[in-house]
Amino acid sequence: MHFIFLGPPGAGKGTQAKIISKEFKIAHLSTGEILRSMSLKETKTGKALHKIISQGLLVSDDLVTGVVEERILFDDCINGFILDGFPRTIIQAESLEKILKKRNISLNNVIEINVKEEILIKRISGRQVCEKCKKIYNKFFDPFPINGCLDCRGEKITIRTDDDVDAFKNVRLKKYNQETRPLVNYYNEKKLLKSVDGTSPPEEISKKIIKIIKNT
Ligand code: AMP
Repeated sequence: MHFIFLGPPGAGKGTQAKIISKEFKIAHLSTGEILRSMSLKETKTGKALHKIISQGLLVSDDLVTGVVEERILFDDCINGFILDGFPRTIIQAESLEKILKKRNISLNNVIEINVKEEILIKRISGRQVCEKCKKIYNKFFDPFPINGCLDCRGEKITIRTDDDVDAFKNVRLKKYNQETRPLVNYYNEKKLLKSVDGTSPPEEISKKIIKIIKNT
């Protein structure tokens, strides 16, 4: 089972990918999480990544594609994987196609999660992430519990350095519309695209995604 979760930043791709990967016992590969952890290293690459990610810009196609090419070989991908945050450009999508072909892997579906821009902005400006398990909360709709994370009991949250409202509107959302949104058509033409409304409660969205997966 091999899926791509597509959608603007803040659409809930990460939240859904976590739930769905558990449900089907497949790996959740978030390029954002992988790159963020690489960016914490005090190396030349780590520092360069930190700068790019903090500014909300995209990491080079070559670097991120190389990361994905290696990551899909890990043991936890044996039953399949969900790609969350990759591909983000047509060039990445074309590289992915070659990588998957080499390994005889075919994509089952590309699941697009749709959310209006006003809602995205609220979600992003309130986002709180559990430092330990990366579960996502929101200070407006679903605040981090005072007794700690519901999933792992972790007590600390982190705020992503790229979750600044201005940077989000002027850079990340713009980048999404320019570079990533064309993938909707790209995968639609390949008859792989399924869209879900990302504004209902997370459990309802998961149910819809599970239904799509079971029907394909
Ligand atoms: P995300 O957690 O998916 O929002 O990703 C956070 C940041 O990581 C993005 O703003 C980019 O700087 C970088 N990133 C993640 N995935 C990619 C990708 N496929 N291509 C380029 N940059 C990426």
